[in-house]
Amino acid sequence: MTHPLYDDDAYRTGCAARVLAVHAGGVELDQSVFYPLGGGQPGDSGWLTTDEGTRLRIADTRRDKASGTILHLLDAGARPAPGSTVTLELDWARRHRHMRMHSALHLLSAIVRHGVTGGNLTHESGRLDFDTAGAALDAAHIQHELARLIQDDLPVSMRLISGAALAAQPDLIKTLSVTPPMHLPQIRLVEIAGADLQPCGGTHVRRTSEIGALRVSRIESKGTRNRRVVLAFAEDAA
Ligand SMILES: [Zn+2]
Repeated sequence: MTHPLYDDDAYRTGCAARVLAVHAGGVELDQSVFYPLGGGQPGDSGWLTTDEGTRLRIADTRRDKASGTILHLLDAGARPAPGSTVTLELDWARRHRHMRMHSALHLLSAIVRHGVTGGNLTHESGRLDFDTAGAALDAAHIQHELARLIQDDLPVSMRLISGAALAAQPDLIKTLSVTPPMHLPQIRLVEIAGADLQPCGGTHVRRTSEIGALRVSRIESKGTRNRRVVLAFAEDAA
């Protein structure tokens, strides 16, 4: 299995790794800084340099559903040799945007006090869907509250709890459509001090000021009950 270095340090941009296997679907390594698609956050991209110095593009990172192992998906062409040592380098500019937007979605879930029915993010935008029972949401209010929590520069921290302990605190789980893996011995809680606490396996910034300025780009109706809030980075505004 691949040791997930991004779990302990989301800011680590590269590492050495040993090639455990090369599958048709991707390269399996003993450790990686590459986050695999999951929890609404895209898989990382970047580069793998072989022990012979060949630099290969990693287009995406996925978790194999059956085995749970992390697969680094290379563009067509050369493959590293099993057993060899390679060097990994994240597309950090893209990943850091994922970390900023992912952390912003935690804040959004704290501001809009309705159950979350879905969510997704890219390096350009992020969205959460809420079951508001048809109630309207105020974009200006949400954007103002986001700005306040970002300006407050709140620390983001992580800790592990048992699945049983989490099961005893069901109010921590905001996502109505996805239940955390309670059967696991340990589940990671992500806390934004004074604002949000929820189980999450994604990558986050250390402090909310690092998210930077955001705008609520739109609020959409998704059926009679659900409302979708879409965020974008202010710096991308035309
Ligand atoms: Zn998260």
